[in-house]
Amino acid sequence: MNERDTETIRGLLRQEGYSFTDSPEDADLILYNTCCVRENPERKVYGQVGQLQELKAKKPGLIIGICGCMPQQEEELPVMLERLPHVDLFFGTHNIHRLPELLHRINATGERVVEILDDGGEPVEGLPALRDNDFKAFVTIMHGCNNFCSYCIVPYVRGRERSRTPEAILDEIRNLADAGVKEVTLLGQNVNSYGKDLQSDTDFADLLEMVNEVPGIQRIRFTTSHPKDISDKLIQQLGSLDKVCEHLHLPVQAGSNNVLRRMNRKYTREYYLERVERILQDIPQARLTTDLIVGFPGDTEEDFELTLDMVRKVHDSQAFTFMYSPRSGTAAATMPDQVPLDVKKLRLQKLMELQNARSLAWRKNMLGQEYEILVEGPSKSDPEQLTGRTRGNEIVVFKGTDSMVGKLLTVKITSANSWTLFGELSSQ
Ligand code: SAM
Ligand code: SF4
Repeated sequence: MNERDTETIRGLLRQEGYSFTDSPEDADLILYNTCCVRENPERKVYGQVGQLQELKAKKPGLIIGICGCMPQQEEELPVMLERLPHVDLFFGTHNIHRLPELLHRINATGERVVEILDDGGEPVEGLPALRDNDFKAFVTIMHGCNNFCSYCIVPYVRGRERSRTPEAILDEIRNLADAGVKEVTLLGQNVNSYGKDLQSDTDFADLLEMVNEVPGIQRIRFTTSHPKDISDKLIQQLGSLDKVCEHLHLPVQAGSNNVLRRMNRKYTREYYLERVERILQDIPQARLTTDLIVGFPGDTEEDFELTLDMVRKVHDSQAFTFMYSPRSGTAAATMPDQVPLDVKKLRLQKLMELQNARSLAWRKNMLGQEYEILVEGPSKSDPEQLTGRTRGNEIVVFKGTDSMVGKLLTVKITSANSWTLFGELSSQ
């Protein structure tokens, strides 16, 4: 979501005549788009922006700004204003479209500008975007979240759910397709509740059907699905719409009903397992991925064992594993029995070991088989090779040429580790 916001920010800046540089020394404006879901990235922002003080002293005309979720937090903003006196601009998640006006104000007055809005209001349409990639794109379908999971800061900094209209979404996707985009990822904190706030009857399953009709688009992905809202209708659509990739990111967070209840997730482990069974019944080739949190307040060894048991029962191809990070203002931050850091670390390590073994087994099952991939570009670990993704969202590294980037090709899987598949091109 933040990456997508950054694309809008870059689009707005380009409209204002800015160009982009990787070197802070060359920049007239340095803008940090921040995330506050966990504490660690927040610490990094203080460290990195703090280091810019010297550059600002040498180059007083430089504008430094911080935007996104961090300044949107009522308690964090005063701390930032005090600890980062050399920062000229603070704005939040609801007023990105106001950036040009805020920059003009700084340039006109030379004074610090702080603008944080409490409420997002109607989604703002028609904003430009500068995307890095020519053939795949994120498309926000809704903003905010109504779920208030007890550990999570998102509803406080992103506001309540606001769906974009199907017309606005389809317009954007048609324009992307006309520009050569082949794959779109529909974004929302809980895409399964798409449309509940709109006058129309369109729900997420209907929206998928509409996007599936857009000529030129060849793959459709979406994230994130809240398990509590995954309906039979949606599962049927996933199985029947040809462009919708068979990958479902379905964060379970924990395996113990006690913990799930205190997390306010509104489902039980039994319900989750039933949904998974139903998905695999309708779509046997489906890939599931998940998010897991260890060390939630009150999480006992027995609770943790139930999370491990969940990982063994549901064969996820990948999981994002997190240590619980208390976020001020959320319900869980003041719950009793916070778990000590060393216990959290041990549990995380154990969980990652199990998940890595499961991910490896998953990938080994793919050996010798052929898969369609969308070629993304040079591999990060070996720039001599290319990387692409299967419909199931697994990364495949293979030997190819630059002209293959952006194409859908078939590869045969020859080896694997827990995170990556290696393959060779099949005769196309
Ligand atoms: N909306 C999505 C959902 O419901 O699953 C996820 C959004 S959240 C930004 C991404 C992931 O971060 C969550 O699934 C959760 O595992 C993790 N997360 C959120 N708050 C956290 C916290 N306070 N500590 C640790 N992990 C957290
Ligand atoms: Fe956070 Fe829960 Fe909303 Fe996801 S559904 S963004 S975890 S509150």
